Amino acid sequence: MFIFRQSAQIQAYIAHLKESGTALGFIPTMGALHDGHMSLVEMAKKSGDKVICSIFVNPTQFDKAEDLEKYPRTETEDILLLEKHGCDIVFIPEVKEVYPEDYSHQPIEIQNPQIKAVLEGEFRPGHFDGMMQVVSRLLEIIPAHRIYMGQKDYQQQMIVREMMSALGIETELIMAPIKREEDGLAMSSRNRRIDPDLRSVATTLYETLKMAKDELQSCPVSEIIHTAEQKITEAGFELEYFRVVDGSDLSPVKNEKDADFIVALVAAWLGEVRLIDNMILKP
Ligand code: AMP
Repeated sequence: MFIFRQSAQIQAYIAHLKESGTALGFIPTMGALHDGHMSLVEMAKKSGDKVICSIFVNPTQFDKAEDLEKYPRTETEDILLLEKHGCDIVFIPEVKEVYPEDYSHQPIEIQNPQIKAVLEGEFRPGHFDGMMQVVSRLLEIIPAHRIYMGQKDYQQQMIVREMMSALGIETELIMAPIKREEDGLAMSSRNRRIDPDLRSVATTLYETLKMAKDELQSCPVSEIIHTAEQKITEAGFELEYFRVVDGSDLSPVKNEKDADFIVALVAAWLGEVRLIDNMILKP
């Protein structure tokens, strides 16, 4: 596995690979890698792509300095894990490689700005602008044929899709399903920070999403949301949102018949750790 730390070097190598017709699959990450990330590596490998992973904790997408500081960093373990799963190239830049002094950034306008204003957009102001900035910059350095992103961050992959269309980036976005722990907790780099005493409670998010899926046909959405909010709060979470939306534009859905594709999304704090999860209720 090749490790690059400088943009110019990986750019030259990628250009060489593209010239020789190699199919390239790119997986942007913030490190602290786990089996969820590895499921993206495996997906990319299966489709025959040469797999490029980036590890970069992007400062511009954190609204709280404290959250950025606390973000787990496990570079040595990450490299070993990527190597074990057959990743071909890893890019681990410092901030100045991604945003050099002469770099200037124009805000990116997407066609439906509402999709970045709601849900995570309400609770993490500026997060998606920072996320679009880094993904667009990484795609400039690594113009892969495909980008692999997780359904775990459902809203994020929707916004990246729109962003690429707005910028005329031809990379294809592939969404990978959520990889979960045995008890249903969605794998996340943040899970290692969950207080061990609270770990058994963490699975409530998954259980509540499953309940929403089971009840979608028989209950009005307002009732499902009310029960979900109660269940999550009673379990000891501090709930930010539990929403049921049209998966194509994130607008709220009142009844199962209102949309062809319905997704439930949740964000809640368990002690010091903010967890998000989602489930496709109507595929
Ligand atoms: P992150 O390092 O958290 O920014 O995640 C990097 C990529 O991995 C994103 O596209 C995530 O959606 C994806 N990812 C993170 N956790 C999971 C998971 N449990 N299952 C599938 N994909 C995931």
